[in-house]
Amino acid sequence: MATHKQIIIIGSGPAGFTAALYASRAHLQVAVFEGSQPGGQLTITTEVENYPGFEHGIMGPELMDVLRKQSHRFGAESIYETITEVNVSQRPFSVKTDRGNEFTADALIVATGASAKLLGTKGESTYMGYGVSACATCDGFFFRNQHVYVVGGGDTAMEEANYLTRFASKVTLVHRRDEFRASKIMIERAQKNPKIEFLTNTVIEEFLGEELPSGMRKLTSLRLHNTITSEYTVVPADGCFIAIGHEPNTKLFKDILDMDSTGYIITRGKSTYSNVPGVFVCGDAQDSVYRQAITAAGSGCMAAIDAERWLEMQSHHH
Ligand code: NDP
Repeated sequence: MATHKQIIIIGSGPAGFTAALYASRAHLQVAVFEGSQPGGQLTITTEVENYPGFEHGIMGPELMDVLRKQSHRFGAESIYETITEVNVSQRPFSVKTDRGNEFTADALIVATGASAKLLGTKGESTYMGYGVSACATCDGFFFRNQHVYVVGGGDTAMEEANYLTRFASKVTLVHRRDEFRASKIMIERAQKNPKIEFLTNTVIEEFLGEELPSGMRKLTSLRLHNTITSEYTVVPADGCFIAIGHEPNTKLFKDILDMDSTGYIITRGKSTYSNVPGVFVCGDAQDSVYRQAITAAGSGCMAAIDAERWLEMQSHHH
């Protein structure tokens, strides 16, 4: 038997919980599906200095805890399950979770966010968390006086390379072309940093390491391929940070909601309306441009207001 909620929110980052706060405060019955990473991307960062209202900054995980509790105070409920199936072809809408539970809802708010892209190269997943990372601010600290690599040629790669020089003795930035898409100022800053070395026209072919008998493993080197000379080399590496961009977590909505060619869900005008009436989208799932906690939260608020007004309209129609 399916459990019914007025609003189901899919995703538990700043967008999801701000939507939950507004909707529950409007006396709507709200369930937030927290998904595979409760609290979202901020839970893997350290200090957040640019979220307005916190003069001295706040730790990412703590901010998410506060947002969650603030929404619970008005009756929003967290469900620690991941939605694996969505059906919006009839009303009420229905969803299924990884635990096999079924829920129905009058309106859906999609706040599934984005995740760091990975290379998919051999060894990458084996050493993820054991030398390979997709988040310099989370893991940089562990590489004090070591030699680390950063992959990518955008602003994120430049920023992470700079940030990592606080800890690492040397940072090598590996990029597949010899032109960078990063902004000029970020490139210059990286070029001026004596600890950063550039390796262009180079791709990582394989992540290599040791498997210790204790079950622990550790990245020790990288197999590189120079795309101009076709040369292969193996270089020692203590760490490798993948900084090649993000992708929206929107696979669940393929063929259901309109998306752009990179998978970001398209919303109508300045609203959070998707192409399906009653389904609203907020946060990084629909924003490839700003991608900030505060803009995600702002659009979560918009989604709750849009959903509330839409539900109100439906009740007048019947
Ligand atoms: P981008 O999409 O801008 O850059 C991704 C980089 O990764 C590109 O250089 C790309 O190479 C490379 N890349 C992608 N896929 C692969 C792959 N499979 N193998 C090897 N290399 C790969 O993403 P960013 O995260 O850097 O930036 C996203 C947005 O956020 C941008 O708009 C950026 O300006 C903004 N931003 C701004 C910051 C700031 O101003 N402080 C900080 C961080 C981000 P190629 O160029 O060859 O395609």
